[in-house]
Amino acid sequence: MNLQHASAEELRQWEADLANEYNAYCEQTINLDLTRGKPSADQLNLSDSIDGLLKGNYLAEDGTDTRNYGGLEGISEARQLGADILGLNLDEVLAQGNSSLTLMFHTMFIARDFGLGNGPDSAWKNSTGTIKFICPVPGYDRHYTVCEQLGIEMLTVAMTENGPDMDAVEALVKADPNIKGMWCVPKYSNPTGTIYSDETVERIAKLATIAGENFCVFWDNAYAVHDLNDVKPLANIMDYCRTHGTENSVVQFASTSKITHAGSGVAFIGSSKSNLAAYKKVLGVMSIGPDKTNQLRHMRLLPNYDALLDHMQRHAALLKPRFECVLKHLSEAFSENDLGEWESAEGGYFISFNTRPNLAKTVVELAANAGVKLTPAGATFPYGNDLQDSNIRIAPSVPSLEDVDQAMKIFVTCVKLASVRQALN
Ligand code: PLP
Repeated sequence: MNLQHASAEELRQWEADLANEYNAYCEQTINLDLTRGKPSADQLNLSDSIDGLLKGNYLAEDGTDTRNYGGLEGISEARQLGADILGLNLDEVLAQGNSSLTLMFHTMFIARDFGLGNGPDSAWKNSTGTIKFICPVPGYDRHYTVCEQLGIEMLTVAMTENGPDMDAVEALVKADPNIKGMWCVPKYSNPTGTIYSDETVERIAKLATIAGENFCVFWDNAYAVHDLNDVKPLANIMDYCRTHGTENSVVQFASTSKITHAGSGVAFIGSSKSNLAAYKKVLGVMSIGPDKTNQLRHMRLLPNYDALLDHMQRHAALLKPRFECVLKHLSEAFSENDLGEWESAEGGYFISFNTRPNLAKTVVELAANAGVKLTPAGATFPYGNDLQDSNIRIAPSVPSLEDVDQAMKIFVTCVKLASVRQALN
């Protein structure tokens, strides 16, 4: 299907055939959902033995009674697991409650109002003018809502196959002192699946040398161990920070949300000791300590990093066929034409698809009318604003393989139909 070289007659014929196909789907009662980037029930089942693992033994390795108050930093063995995930030392990591997103919100709030490791004078609220943040796009919608909630204006830069366009990032940061930081999902970026190259990681570690000491990179390594095929290494940003003297300019995050039970996991924040000290000062006001008993249960289930990696292979075995199914449909339908582009994710939870310009909303609507729910077009951009109206995030983890297959048949039909109709107009 080559739209550029097709005659009007051919286009009309394709439109009629695709409309028939599409209407046939609409007449069935289909109810499929490719919106949710969360683990399937089968994946959650992999961790069910966490229930009852403690068997009355509530003592952490150092003898701490995890049932009691205290231990703001989290138990040591959980901090070590977080340190292994993030490539840090134990004393550079805190283990906390179930959501890393909460830790990101806290960090941004603290950086804005109280200042992180460079002291109270470095609080962003001390600068005049609107605080701004760089968001690589497409990206994760909840990062954007954190910024919106805290009154931080978002500036976009494009994602390349090596990570954010660093020439654009460095130019922005040089030109505007009100840019105080940047969101990054460095491994299997949500939604493009990109792994940042070593060069990109080093350039990000050096940004504070251009932007100033209160610049802070939010390094959300949500998919650090979520490989589908081989384990893909990501350069250690803290090593680069140590080389360039910018340790206070990066705060890292991860969690077990997509490792054990998404709603009752353990989240980690990692950074320089001085950043963590500033964080803990405020954390100690909000909490007397995290759920250490839950941390201990996690450590009994996943006693070390190797056990964690084994566990992730079981997730991969469930996720991989679903991803392969999506990629098969996209490749069969679009590899020989220019109706769409996508990235073949090697891990994470998403496949990012770009329609021809100005078609994403139409495709999402067509799919919805045929019974396939997709993430709203624009959701992967700050303020919901995809200027190209072309990006669609596909999340195949929750539906059964059969349902992914059916949903993708419909998706592909919708993309083709929308594209042919656009060419006819
Ligand atoms: N960060 C990214 C990039 C995500 O995709 C998600 C969930 O989809 C989260 C964070 C949420 O993490 P948590 O469950 O630890 O709050």
